[in-house]
Amino acid sequence: MKRRTRWSTCGLCGEFRITTREHVVPRSLYPASKSNSKFQRITIAACAECNNGTADDDAHFRTVLMLAGEQNDAVNQLWTGPVRRALKEVDGRRRALDVFKLMRPAPDAGPNRYRIFPADDARVLRIVRKIVRGLSRHHELAYPVSDGRVFADVLRQPMPDEMVAEMKQHAAESDVLEYGFLPIADTPGLISAWLLRFYQRTSFVSLIFADEEARQTLYKRGGSEG
Ligand SMILES: [Zn+2]
Repeated sequence: MKRRTRWSTCGLCGEFRITTREHVVPRSLYPASKSNSKFQRITIAACAECNNGTADDDAHFRTVLMLAGEQNDAVNQLWTGPVRRALKEVDGRRRALDVFKLMRPAPDAGPNRYRIFPADDARVLRIVRKIVRGLSRHHELAYPVSDGRVFADVLRQPMPDEMVAEMKQHAAESDVLEYGFLPIADTPGLISAWLLRFYQRTSFVSLIFADEEARQTLYKRGGSEG
């Protein structure tokens, strides 16, 4: 696919480079019925370096989310259409294997039952960080934000209610992605906290730090390593 390129400031790394318009929320996460969604059309300028290899990661991310819980309508549409087709493509077998590696037996759910653990995969968390970096730009909060300044993980414990109540809530089509963010003023080194919920069930938490050092000092786990 030929893309329109131009010189501009990359919305992710802040460098002045040749860029293309990239979707903040990967377009592949939206089923065909949402093709008119205003949100999925939101784009930022991004350089080739920041985009490197993310199309394949986007596909992997989508498949993992499809398998991570109960199906809603958006999941059903994607699962019976584009996801099936992607897994039948030339490298579909490799993609399927990438996903199976994340599955663990779930004996409590029954024999031959498996669960998928999105946070065990560095590529899944990288896409979450990239979405948060793009949203931070879109909402004119911190910018540019390098990958190393962002922490992301699946939400392992519910966030305190007061914090969620304080967050500005947004929906990028509620059955695809809901998210909220909270600028943080009282913790030096921490800039904002984010909560993202995909397909009404898989939640990630993310934090943006002032710099990489602050992230390493304040929060080691789930950073950009790997
Ligand atoms: Zn860039």
